[in-house]
Amino acid sequence: MINNLDKIVSLCKRRGFIYPGSEIYGGLANSWDYGPLGVELKNNIKQLWWKKFVQNRDDIVGIDAALIMNPKVWEASGHLKEFSDPLVECKKCHSRFRADQAFELPPGVTLSEFNAPHKSAVGYTLKLKFIPPEECPNCGGKEFSEAKQFNLMLKTFLGPAEEKANEVYFRPETAQAMFVNFKNVLDTTRKTLPFGIAQIGKAFRNEITPGNFIFRTREFEQMEIEYFIRENEWEKWFRHWQEEIINWIKELGIDVKKVHEIEIPDGERAHYSKRTIDFEYEFPFGQKELYGLAYRTDFDLRNHFKKLPYRDLNSPTGENEKFYPHVIEPTWGVDRTVLAVLSDAYHEEEDPAENGASRIVLKLNPKLAPYKAAVFPLLKNKPELVEKAREIYQMLKTNDLAVAWDDRGNIGKRYYSQDEIGTPFCVTIDFQTLEDDAVTVRDRDTMKQERIKIENLIYYITSAIAESM
Ligand code: ATP
Repeated sequence: MINNLDKIVSLCKRRGFIYPGSEIYGGLANSWDYGPLGVELKNNIKQLWWKKFVQNRDDIVGIDAALIMNPKVWEASGHLKEFSDPLVECKKCHSRFRADQAFELPPGVTLSEFNAPHKSAVGYTLKLKFIPPEECPNCGGKEFSEAKQFNLMLKTFLGPAEEKANEVYFRPETAQAMFVNFKNVLDTTRKTLPFGIAQIGKAFRNEITPGNFIFRTREFEQMEIEYFIRENEWEKWFRHWQEEIINWIKELGIDVKKVHEIEIPDGERAHYSKRTIDFEYEFPFGQKELYGLAYRTDFDLRNHFKKLPYRDLNSPTGENEKFYPHVIEPTWGVDRTVLAVLSDAYHEEEDPAENGASRIVLKLNPKLAPYKAAVFPLLKNKPELVEKAREIYQMLKTNDLAVAWDDRGNIGKRYYSQDEIGTPFCVTIDFQTLEDDAVTVRDRDTMKQERIKIENLIYYITSAIAESM
């Protein structure tokens, strides 16, 4: 675990995980582009999520909806009126900032007691206060205006005329697409309560102060589930999703001791929520929201559907009554997941085998690692070694393993290069291989080396990945 964000940003740029957006033109307001390794890591996270919550469950189906929706959606959902953050203005240079929000702790409760892992803080009443920056990062000014609310919806025009009638918004959350498609999904899948609709996709917010690398950007990705239930079962399903979020964090391989559940008190929750828990992670720049869980009641379906949208065919009374289902919403930020995974995996270590030389190693869950293995011919100028190594490289690839190839420099340097990007196994083909059909497999975390028969190599790697975490 690292306490310095700059090191992660620099590794990401150096090795092709994440680049500054529009870099050759001086960048654009904290936008970022995922590079060749970053897109693999991000896709592995999204695939793991989709498999766990959609494909492996009978009660959840997926959709993939348009980013720009009819503005009436945002009127009904309350976003045009309510979706805002507190903004303060420097009195000297008039630069604008998002006021930090902080809760005042209840009297007699320490921060560590309040943040005890997985203990919900129900029962405490917290007061939210707005804190302007200590000084203006732009001019050093120390006086700020009172906080006022600033709407975060990102606006554009659809069609050739830039006029009021053509104003539309990029979606600020994926959730509303699940609500407006509720009847469509119901009619085409014959699902009955409880069931969920899931989606992975981009969302846009005109954040006042984007920053902290990919933590807060104006364009980001979410993985969300709207889980439809009967009102009297909401507490049970809220608990279910609370556990599932923690299970997911464990599955990623993130240290759960660095995750804290924060109960959001009355009056401070989003306009639609009757109960909210934020799952905060100890990022290198402080403890901040990673995921959220909200009980959205029937707020959204009630606002979108004028007619009762659900008929209960299994009702115990046999009366088939119609009603508005209630909703539990677990929500995961994809980019914040990438950042938490990288922060947790980043280690600087001494390598005893190399007389204390230090190495940077990303101890990624092998399921998430961009490459599962790297293949090295011991020497690049020995055709018989290169040919054998190529054969093994192809064999791994045709068995659906993402593999890297490296034949530059000495083996020690190649190991370090793969450690830095989190490749769990390095496979070296040497002269002995030509005699005994075995290779040297070196483990990223233990740095131990083992001779493995080529015929057992795929099993060795795939079973290690399957067993990981
Ligand atoms: P914050 O308080 O940090 O602004 P939020 O409470 O507004 O977050 P939600 O509306 O609950 O966030 O959004 C769901 C999830 O989407 C968050 O838990 C987070 O992982 C992600 N997310 C929200 N805003 C951003 C952003 N600007 N950049 C990257 N990810 C974001």
